[in-house]
Amino acid sequence: MKVLVIGSGGREHALVWALSQDPDVEQVVAAPGNPGIAALQPAYDGQTIVCRPVDISDHDAVLALATELGTDLAVVGPEAPLVAGLADPLRAAGIAVFGPSKDAAQLEGSKAFAKDVMAAASVPTGRAYVCTTAEQAAEAIDAFGPPYVVKDDALAAGKGVVVTSDREEALAHAAECGQVLIEEFLDGPEVSLFAITDGTTVLPMQPAQDFKRLGDNDEGPNTGGMGAYTPLPWAPEKLVEEITEKVLQPTVDEMRRRGTPFSGLLYAGLALTSRGVRVIEFNCRFGDPETQALLPLLKTPLGGLLYAAATGKLADLEPLAWKSGASVAVVMAAKKYPAKPRSGDVISGIEQAEAGGVRVFHAGTAIEDGEVVTAGGRVLAVSATGKDLDEARQRAYAGVGQIRIKGSQHRTDIALKAARGDIHLVS
Ligand code: AMP
Repeated sequence: MKVLVIGSGGREHALVWALSQDPDVEQVVAAPGNPGIAALQPAYDGQTIVCRPVDISDHDAVLALATELGTDLAVVGPEAPLVAGLADPLRAAGIAVFGPSKDAAQLEGSKAFAKDVMAAASVPTGRAYVCTTAEQAAEAIDAFGPPYVVKDDALAAGKGVVVTSDREEALAHAAECGQVLIEEFLDGPEVSLFAITDGTTVLPMQPAQDFKRLGDNDEGPNTGGMGAYTPLPWAPEKLVEEITEKVLQPTVDEMRRRGTPFSGLLYAGLALTSRGVRVIEFNCRFGDPETQALLPLLKTPLGGLLYAAATGKLADLEPLAWKSGASVAVVMAAKKYPAKPRSGDVISGIEQAEAGGVRVFHAGTAIEDGEVVTAGGRVLAVSATGKDLDEARQRAYAGVGQIRIKGSQHRTDIALKAARGDIHLVS
């Protein structure tokens, strides 16, 4: 199978690596990819892994590349090209695509649309008002009371949400956005559950947790994600079953009923509140950095899995198989991320870290004068597995300790509470 992976982040690096482990995958091309993907070694004789430069917002150029390569399966990594509709021309050209159509990607592209689908499918979520004027926003903010949750309706790379008890800050964020959602505050620990779906059948992965705030103890601004771990030792036993039944399957069924079937990766961001599971958001693609933690534990060959989803054949597959143990990914971000990440800082120590057994997934990196340098906010994810979370986190942090990036930032508490048994469900 020849696979084209679209994107250039840590998620795509992890996807390309996992695809290369599948003996049925003979070629992986990443467009445009990144220096970490370019350095990947094939896992099998005759397999090739290459990067091809392309502007992924230019759909004609991506289609031309896929056609030239004789792509059997295109995997669209990031949300922006999915929401812009990149899957549609590829599919129209007869290429199997893992990723939703433009219409189905609205589940992530518009929070108001997602609320509408959830209401129709009786999926539990926070109550919310969609507001288009400052007056409406103020009214909704006062109706809920603090803490206030104000969300930009449109895509904002995980940074469009403000949760604050400061009324002025809530109003100011609402004023900055166009259409906003004012939502009730949801308490309780958060879970990310990813499901592979072909529009009908849903195969849930194991749950993960990510860390959205920049600083330890969930302080500082929201980011694209500073780390993740899986599985969740504190989660109720039947959690995946419950979320599949109450959230994932009804959402997939409702999208199909509307004539806009959702195929690809349905990501449910959830809060386990005192009143039960609530959806915080849907995403229409693999989460970053949860993917960098999850894929090293996935036993099911990824190429065959994504191809089955892209061709409507998931019902023929067994449930996903996982390695035992735990996995932790720690993000190293550039100086001044997320406000104004600094580029051009030299990165050293990656090889030493990898020699110690971690996987280093590149995100915002570039090659300058033969050296790997920072070229984006989130620079790397250092991912490690172990027999339990404690071991996985010790290994991941040992890897982080070997990598030098001037001024870089990382959290020191990824998976810490979970490893200590210090996460509690609210009752
Ligand atoms: P989102 O982009 O919707 O995932 O929101 C980013 C982060 O904001 C989430 O991971 C939560 O930590 C927080 N958040 C979003 N909605 C709520 C809510 N209704 N109540 C509490 N926290 C929220």
